[in-house]
Amino acid sequence: MSRASFCVMPRTLMHEMPDEWQSKMAELLAEYDATFDRSALHDCKVMAVRKNGKFTSWPDWLLQYRRPDVAAINSIRAKPCDECGKLEHECPCIDEMISAVSAQR
Ligand SMILES: [Zn+2]
Repeated sequence: MSRASFCVMPRTLMHEMPDEWQSKMAELLAEYDATFDRSALHDCKVMAVRKNGKFTSWPDWLLQYRRPDVAAINSIRAKPCDECGKLEHECPCIDEMISAVSAQR
């Protein structure tokens, strides 16, 4: 995790995750809800901010979870590794390359 104070995930992208992932997430969120009484906490609002810190608006496709724009969603989908076909978080290739380079020294 980063040092961010909040974790915000667009519902549109969560809907695109595999059913097993969504089931696990639903269980984890239910566990979280059962653990904390957050009624005394403030509500929060999520604002879109550009890299330069200026406020902007969310792209429509990111807000339309009932009518997903598959092309837009796929345009930001991570590409599988050319070597092993796995996504970045489970790809062992970079670690193997670093180990191989270290072994040559
Ligand atoms: Zn790989």
